[in-house]
Amino acid sequence: MNVLVINCGSSSLKFQLIDAESEKVMAKGICERIGIDGQFTYQPAGGEKEKSAKPMPTHTEAIQYVLEALTNDKTGVVSSLDEIGAVGHRMVHGGEKFASSVVITEEVKKAVEECNELAPLHNPANLIGVEACEKLMPGTPMVGVFDTAFHQTMPARAYMYGLPYEYYEKYKVRRYGFHGTSHSFVSKRAAEVMEKPYDQLKTIVCHLGNGASVTAVLNGKSVDTSMGLTPLEGLVMGTRSGDIDPAIMEFIAHKEGLDIDGMMKVLNKDSGVYGISGGLSSDFRDLTDASLAGDKKAQTAMEVFSYRVAKYIGAYAAAMNGVDDIVFTAGIGENDDIVRSQVCSYLGYLGVEFDEEKNKGLRGKEEELSKPGSKVRVFVIPTNEELAIARETMALVK
Ligand code: AMP
Repeated sequence: MNVLVINCGSSSLKFQLIDAESEKVMAKGICERIGIDGQFTYQPAGGEKEKSAKPMPTHTEAIQYVLEALTNDKTGVVSSLDEIGAVGHRMVHGGEKFASSVVITEEVKKAVEECNELAPLHNPANLIGVEACEKLMPGTPMVGVFDTAFHQTMPARAYMYGLPYEYYEKYKVRRYGFHGTSHSFVSKRAAEVMEKPYDQLKTIVCHLGNGASVTAVLNGKSVDTSMGLTPLEGLVMGTRSGDIDPAIMEFIAHKEGLDIDGMMKVLNKDSGVYGISGGLSSDFRDLTDASLAGDKKAQTAMEVFSYRVAKYIGAYAAAMNGVDDIVFTAGIGENDDIVRSQVCSYLGYLGVEFDEEKNKGLRGKEEELSKPGSKVRVFVIPTNEELAIARETMALVK
């Protein structure tokens, strides 16, 4: 069965058509600047990437272009829409309502809508993508795969904040966590590589991308994760602050004359390694170049980032009373050997014997980075959220 995987943002829509049996990507692309001027990028497997300007006032036109490109005589990879058996939608926030993926019904859409308040930028866009597909592909089953679902196994001691209980009761203020599809995918893959049962392992996954989070996976279940009610908590990220003393908000707001929206912009867009590096860059390739050239702020930004990751690993080893394997994934985790080396330099006490030689220069490839006999094993495992969504979709639709 061919599964169309859709990741719909407020002004962009990424897609992949995946043959769910062979797990091969048949075509992929992105619609950008939806509602502005519209830019369409499409690439069939083994073919050239094509970029063109296309008017896309709404997501419906964007999906129309996607379906046309997938089926046309020249660039198409299927002969008709009948060959697309299902659509898998990445959904950001399922609140406490969704602990697993679901076939999308009217009831499900209503329940997702009720979570909009928790992810006001993402959830409405996800739903727009669902409705546009429903309009253009009536009768094709749709599945929602939630970023938060994998973390619904966390115990209350991990998800409750030290706040008045009524805020949890009235507003559902608690830790939810994100990147769940990725944490689940790579932790399972690590168990396969180790040839150990997934439900008997203590794994710590470091999903280090522009957004970044660490998760403790105990016996195949998420028991703690560093992102919280929103993706702002936890690690220092590209432009997000991660954990800070909450009183800093009041202090800076007074000093700089900012209201709550202004302060939230500082924490989400102007902070993280971008902020620490003095606005140099949020991209680790730039920070690495600058660090190697002697830029002190860039060096500090990278050190702060790695140190925070190491602290979370220590915390989660404590939460699980040990750790068997540590997995690095996503843009930085898969590609940045300096960050991996810095993080692992703190972990000798846990029993990590890190192989610097194997680590050096390793990019985007599955590899073990611990030495033979290391008590805790360390891996790079590339994440593949689209494939994970296609698998979930196929499992539910079949
Ligand atoms: P993601 O959000 O998973 O797509 O990760 C994007 C981030 O990965 C970028 O902002 C970079 O900081 C980082 N990244 C990508 N490629 C490299 C690379 N070759 N070396 C270091 N960092 C990289």
